[in-house]
Amino acid sequence: VKQAKAAGTPQVYEPKEASAARRRFSIETELRRALDKDQLKLFYQPLINLKSGEVAGFEALARWTHEDRGEISPAEFIPVAEESGLILQLGRWAMDNAAQTLANWDKAIGETLPLYVGVNLSAIQVARDNIADMVSSALRSSGLTGDRLTLELTESSIVQDPGRATRVFEALKALDATVAMDDFGTGYSSLAYLQRLPIDVLKIDKSFVSGMMRDPDAVAIVRAVLSLAEALGMSTTAEGVETVELATTLAALGCASGQGYYFAKPLEEDEALAYWKSRRRR
Ligand code: C2E
Ligand code: MG
Ligand code: MG
Ligand code: MG
Repeated sequence: VKQAKAAGTPQVYEPKEASAARRRFSIETELRRALDKDQLKLFYQPLINLKSGEVAGFEALARWTHEDRGEISPAEFIPVAEESGLILQLGRWAMDNAAQTLANWDKAIGETLPLYVGVNLSAIQVARDNIADMVSSALRSSGLTGDRLTLELTESSIVQDPGRATRVFEALKALDATVAMDDFGTGYSSLAYLQRLPIDVLKIDKSFVSGMMRDPDAVAIVRAVLSLAEALGMSTTAEGVETVELATTLAALGCASGQGYYFAKPLEEDEALAYWKSRRRR
């Protein structure tokens, strides 16, 4: 018995892949527990109106500080949540909490703030959850109107089942919510969908934005996306605005809003409200 047990637990050498698979598996187990114990947090990153300099809204971004492993990046746990189906629970949690936070800010200031909150929707949620039901229930419990919400969807949510995606996008519009195409330019969707689906905002992926200062091709792509958006009557947001030069250039090119470390990193709930106040024009 002793021998068999020893043979089953290699200690000296372990192929990288085996340990990666093991970590993935533990992340799944621990994420499930963390969701049940409400241990995830939403942080809020401002989106700045590049003309006025005011905060237009905030994107809610999930954060997970693990008891032993420390901070685990969404780049790691979101894919695990998607593969395991936990994204349905995580997605509803994010929707409810983001809406409640904006309602709390309204209450703290004593008015309906000229702000929206953006929530990311995974393609898995679009494929498997009842998004309209999820959003209307968040609106009901927070008391917000639909126009205070932006739902960020990716091209991958269209590609798999365009018919279903169309119904989801239209249901969101029926609730008066704003629909943004996240990471635009990195997916595989056909431009025909841009015309067919009710999309309000194109979010230009940070890979194009961060390339702008050294790569004329990246500038060309950003320009092309901006004029495409304008022609189709859509607004634009640039992700990954890390420098004042980028903010100025994007503003000059006509990009409506910007998001990135130059303005602020994702902030805790109360820091985010303080940030909004500090940039409010009076
Ligand atoms: P995303 O939706 O494209 O969010 C933008 C990401 O860019 C965030 O990464 C943000 O922290 C990061 N970012 C913002 N400004 C800058 C900048 O100036 N430079 C650089 N290098 N990065 C910047 P984060 O928070 O690590 O999230 C990564 C991705 O995980 C998100 O990409 C989103 O796809 C996903 N995610 C996060 N929270 C949720 C959630 O609640 N639900 C779902 N479905 N996905 C989420
Ligand atoms: Mg996003
Ligand atoms: Mg994005
Ligand atoms: Mg992106």
